[in-house]
Amino acid sequence: MSPEQVVRLTRFALAHTCWPHLDVELSGGETLLLGPGWLRTCLEGIRAVHSNGRSVRKIVLTTNAVLLTEEIADILCEARVGVCVSLDTCEELAEGYKRVCPEVLSGIRLLQERGLSPAVNAVGTKRAVSGSAALMRFLATIGVAQFRVTLLRPLGLAKAHMEELRPDTRDVLRSTVEALDYMRESGLAVIETNVMERVFRYFADSYVHDFCNTLSCPAGREFLAVDARGDVYPCGADLRKRSRLGNIYQGFDERQRERVLSRYHAKGPHFLRCFACKARRICFFSCSACEYDGALDFFESQCQACQALFEYFEQNEDLVAAVYRAATERNPGRSTRRASASHGTPAQEELAREDRHHDS
Ligand code: SF4
Ligand code: SF4
Repeated sequence: MSPEQVVRLTRFALAHTCWPHLDVELSGGETLLLGPGWLRTCLEGIRAVHSNGRSVRKIVLTTNAVLLTEEIADILCEARVGVCVSLDTCEELAEGYKRVCPEVLSGIRLLQERGLSPAVNAVGTKRAVSGSAALMRFLATIGVAQFRVTLLRPLGLAKAHMEELRPDTRDVLRSTVEALDYMRESGLAVIETNVMERVFRYFADSYVHDFCNTLSCPAGREFLAVDARGDVYPCGADLRKRSRLGNIYQGFDERQRERVLSRYHAKGPHFLRCFACKARRICFFSCSACEYDGALDFFESQCQACQALFEYFEQNEDLVAAVYRAATERNPGRSTRRASASHGTPAQEELAREDRHHDS
């Protein structure tokens, strides 16, 4: 996608969004393949766009960091870009940090030297989740404080390999417990954001990050994905033709747009059970793009893993509470989106009382 296209898209999005702010995320493929000239022109262009009295609030760039040079680090720093380093292959995690190549480590260091704090993302395959706690320990040694594992979804190329690659309930439970233990023992040296999200929901019914992990999928509501051709999709997780909403150059067909969005936002009958499920407090409710594709077994595996996690949380409240306490002490503002926890367990109510005391 040329810088002119990126700027045009940004202007289009700013002109049409009803949200008070717009965030732009550049992701690939690999975003740094087009070189520093492309990157600088894109970022300067995005920062210069104003429409309806508004401008872009945040720019995030996802990269594998292999091509991250001094010059690129300077450009990212000047444009105040949030960087996510994506370790997309399971080997990097399964083999532990030893397989994280030197170029990636050098790229992370170049960002840190300029005061940027890159986060690290990884795709959670079966083998990868088992190495995630080891990677967290390693990330702490190189000063990375934020980490996130996104469980592999049956979309795109991964679909054909789900049986061999998908973590099962035991894998998810074990890796979550290990991440919790590590966060507690290390005083949150590295935070795994999905685990932390569940901890906050369990104790405070609040959110650490506004990810898509709620009953209501935000695809097409809170964000859109646009590819190099200008085709627009509700979510970057699913760039199949059948999910296309329209094209910014050729326009949008209203019926197509409604058809796609209604499939994303409709909930199947299997969600009826969620109303009576106590684990809904920490549930991520699967992914609409997978449901759109009829991948109910994916929903079932996530559902079982969530119920197992909730049981663990109930049986080990003290351990989970220690992580929650450390997080709220470090950043008291995080508890302010709390809903009432007045019908929780005694530990939940005690922590909610502490929060109210703290907030007042
Ligand atoms: S654990 Fe399963 S039943 Fe419970 S809220 Fe989540 S998806 Fe629904
Ligand atoms: S389609 Fe999936 S990944 Fe995309 S916003 Fe919805 S739940 Fe999230």
